[in-house]
Amino acid sequence: MAFALEELSGIYPEEEIRAITLWLFEEFLEVERVDYQLNIDKGMSESELLKFNFAIKDLKKGKPIQHILGYTWFLDLKLQVNEHTLIPRPETEELVQYIISQEESNSALKILDIGTGSACIPLALEKAMPQNEYYGIDFKSEIIELAYKNSQAQNSNINLIQLDILKEELSGDYDVIISNPPYVLESEKKEMHKNVVDFEPESALYVKDSDPLLFYEKIILQAKKHLNINGRLYLEINERYGNELSELLNKHGFESIKILNDFRGRIRFCTAFLRQKKSSV
Ligand code: GLN
Repeated sequence: MAFALEELSGIYPEEEIRAITLWLFEEFLEVERVDYQLNIDKGMSESELLKFNFAIKDLKKGKPIQHILGYTWFLDLKLQVNEHTLIPRPETEELVQYIISQEESNSALKILDIGTGSACIPLALEKAMPQNEYYGIDFKSEIIELAYKNSQAQNSNINLIQLDILKEELSGDYDVIISNPPYVLESEKKEMHKNVVDFEPESALYVKDSDPLLFYEKIILQAKKHLNINGRLYLEINERYGNELSELLNKHGFESIKILNDFRGRIRFCTAFLRQKKSSV
């Protein structure tokens, strides 16, 4: 631990170094985190030490721990991640929990996730609400491949389709449409950590400052056509754009528009109903 703290200080805050190091111990020493904490002085074998040193080297370059290990946790799911997909964030876990709280009493819903990435959203929803039908789309074959691996590992029945929401029309009708599209402004990039900027896919994160709602506009237009009457839209959003999004949704005939905060107290989610279909808004 002391070695990791020394090597990585300045790159990550101390608390994060401790968490990352425990995760590495857990992985390489094949013991539970709790166990390790009890036997903190238990030595490492030579091969364990070697793996640990390689990992610290990668961490020093800013490589995310999830890319070093090849997986992350999303709620109680262990999911593969790679350079083609965003590492699922705790905010998105919150979004999933919120959707479950709103939808768990329903059944036989058709649920679509636009920009599914690792498929974390539909997989976690399916686990909690297996009574529904799930669809995940994303624009690149490498992403769909990874999403498929994750769905196989979970014995899941979700449907994964390669489709670019910016260029192509959705097919089918849904009761619920969800999306966590790219929403970080290019100008916000400089405030972000090296491990995000250097290692995570730009296409999953950033939008031009001149067109911050690009994805939301497309999603709303398609949701208008492809949501069933009384269908629900659940979006993760940039905290700066709560008002603009509410206005946009309102303009397009959505109702019961709600803006919700994340656990950090920042505006982060937006939900709305499509109570009726208006042909010409
Ligand atoms: N919340 C993510 C981040 O700050 C961004 C997710 C997104 O752009 N959809 O890194």
